Amino acid sequence: MARSAYFVINIDGDPDPPHGPRNDRRVLDKYRVMQKLMDDFAEGKGVICVHTSPIYRDRFLRDPFMDFWREWTANGGELALHPEEDLYATAQTRLSEGNHYDHISHMEPIISELADFMQSNGVPFAAYKGGFHGLTMAIVQVLVRAGIEIDLTGAPGIVWPTKTADWSGAPASAYYMSQEAYRKPAESGTGCGMFEIPTAFDGQVSDTGNRFLLNRHYLAVGRSTLGDLYRVWNAIIERGERSARPQIVALVSHTHALHREEFHQECAAVLEYVRKHGGVPVTAREAKRIYDEHQAVLPAS
Ligand SMILES: [Zn+2]
Repeated sequence: MARSAYFVINIDGDPDPPHGPRNDRRVLDKYRVMQKLMDDFAEGKGVICVHTSPIYRDRFLRDPFMDFWREWTANGGELALHPEEDLYATAQTRLSEGNHYDHISHMEPIISELADFMQSNGVPFAAYKGGFHGLTMAIVQVLVRAGIEIDLTGAPGIVWPTKTADWSGAPASAYYMSQEAYRKPAESGTGCGMFEIPTAFDGQVSDTGNRFLLNRHYLAVGRSTLGDLYRVWNAIIERGERSARPQIVALVSHTHALHREEFHQECAAVLEYVRKHGGVPVTAREAKRIYDEHQAVLPAS
């Protein structure tokens, strides 16, 4: 019986809406609000996304952001590569059909060049997160070759074919992906070599019109209500109590609304609740290590 559950804080750092004026200082101020929340509630252990996109391919690979990533990782946090190839596309770069995630010739250089760049600057990515929960096995293979072996894209139950997202039937706690499909766990061993940490999910079929995006059935700050966020966390703890294995899930938050006090307060409230109710904050790499250690001592299920 596992009485506690591990949570990874998956922070989407997308900047202000794609067509507004660019303001690095304003984005950085919001990152600092998140950094303070991590210090106050999670020993600095958030995984923050480094955004890249057709509009802002290298905006976040320069100062002042490179300095911030160094500070963030020195403080106990981790970084995730986050290509937003769809939401932050320009009219010129948007495909008339399908999207860029489906084209590995587009994705491969982005992943391998950015992974090399961050590695050589001393701030390697710990994880990956696709936009709109989109992922393909071809992307997974490129990530593993680039040394990124943890994925934070998953949200069990979300299926959005035009965004290459299919998490139907995906496990609600962390797992190694099979060779065949990212939504399926490997039957034994480490499968294709990618470890998935899914967004915490209450296991219920979405009853809202908004089935493609995180909603009140997920632990996603800003996409739910405080009551529902607490309820989802309680479901994770109950699932852990019924299971012999610890639950390992992600709490998702975005930085874009952090200039608003109520959003800041909601983040603080949910982090405080999760901590008080059995939640242990871990980095993505720590989560993988904890999973591996439990696999080593438990018989296969
Ligand atoms: Zn994003």
